[in-house]
Amino acid sequence: MTTAEHYDIAVVGGGMVGSAIAYGLAKRGARVVVLDQGDNALRSARVNFGLVWLQSKGDGMPAYARWTRRSADLWGAFAAELIETTGISPEHEQRGGLAYCLGENGFEARRVTILRLHNQSGREV
Ligand SMILES: Cc1cc2nc3c(=O)[nH]c(=O)nc-3n(C[C@H](O)[C@H](O)[C@H](O)COP(=O)(O)OP(=O)(O)OC[C@H]3O[C@@H](n4cnc5c(N)ncnc54)[C@H](O)[C@@H]3O)c2cc1C
Repeated sequence: MTTAEHYDIAVVGGGMVGSAIAYGLAKRGARVVVLDQGDNALRSARVNFGLVWLQSKGDGMPAYARWTRRSADLWGAFAAELIETTGISPEHEQRGGLAYCLGENGFEARRVTILRLHNQSGREV
């Protein structure tokens, strides 16, 4: 049985942030335990069902848009790393996103937002 003295660090909360911190610490050699409330806790990291969404993020905030894009770009290699180290696939896919527009006006507003994002960041969004 493993007891508390076998760990250097206890991370309380195994959502996106806690998991990322614990994983980063473990990769640097720390002995980490994650204490999570449980699978019945409907917190953000669970109820967003693993969505990696970047479309339309960062309007008026170019640095945030670029950061979001970079983060999404890194997911492919990270997913492969998780499969290699855990044997469990996060089932990561990047097939684009679908946004519903209510009528022509909604579509035009969306088009203008995406174009503005594209122009401000200097990259495709
Ligand atoms: C529908 C939806 C879509 C989203 N889309 C995006 C997106 O596209 N891009 C993006 O970046 N973000 C998105 N988010 C936001 C993102 O999901 C959250 O910012 C992120 O998951 C928060 O993670 P967290 O670890 O801070 O918190 P949480 O997910 O709330 O995790 C906290 C964890 O702590 C545990 N916990 C709480 N209290 C205790 C306790 N006392 N003891 C032990 N464990 C405890 C809980 O069980 C939980 O697992 C979305 C959120 C939602 C709901």
